Amino acid sequence: MAQKVIPEVDKEWSKISFKWRRLLPIKKDRPPSPIKFEADEEVLNELLDRSNKIIDELIKKSKIDASGHAKLITTDKIVIDPRVRWKCQIPICFGFGTSINCPPHSPTTDQMREIISCYKHAILVSFYPPKKNHVFPSILLGVQGDVNLLNQMVGMIEGEATYLGYYLAMGFKGGPCVGCGFFSPEYFKDLMQQKKIPTCPTLNGEMCRQYLRARPALEACGVDSFATAVKCGEKAPYVINPEHPDESIPFVVWHGIVFVV
Ligand code: SF4
Repeated sequence: MAQKVIPEVDKEWSKISFKWRRLLPIKKDRPPSPIKFEADEEVLNELLDRSNKIIDELIKKSKIDASGHAKLITTDKIVIDPRVRWKCQIPICFGFGTSINCPPHSPTTDQMREIISCYKHAILVSFYPPKKNHVFPSILLGVQGDVNLLNQMVGMIEGEATYLGYYLAMGFKGGPCVGCGFFSPEYFKDLMQQKKIPTCPTLNGEMCRQYLRARPALEACGVDSFATAVKCGEKAPYVINPEHPDESIPFVVWHGIVFVV
């Protein structure tokens, strides 16, 4: 069966990402930040303020019924559990193998342990998307936009941390890559029918179409984001079934983590 070609419109996403990055003052208006090797409480609090501003503005710009916030955490609160990555494979997730940001290509649990061991401070993002996007019928096409928005939040917070001097800041978020067409409405039906759909270009040695936005999935790297969030004082989430009426669901939450210093 012939493979579908990604339409031009999907290739425009990176430009859109650039535009979205203009929410905060553009970079040329900012004084250069000295590189920082240690945590500075004042700068971390400034990053927290900017992170909350990013979350609020992205939600406002998206015109959705959602909320979110950022929290400064220490990395000793992050829960790593090898079962989390195995759950990408047993039973197999629709995202498995589809991009550089999911298993088996993403950082492994052990590699993630090594990455986390290099940081003491991080920003935890909690994003509460519209509940209706996680139940039938909207779930078939609604979740993608929420994951993309979370990706955008994490990518921009990582950028802010970098411009504040934390040049090794690194972001991760929940959920597979859904940005450039593979899980878009156009391909979702084909995916469910086990038809051949385009693979992530990076797996073929090509550039990521959304390099400013795409980040590895936390779960792919063995991070239990729910246990982590609860340990950091966030509300315990619910296991929901897409058949639940949305008014019966207390809330839906997705998390991202940006390691700072
Ligand atoms: S090209 Fe980039 S955004 Fe698209 S699936 Fe691959 S990693 Fe994700």
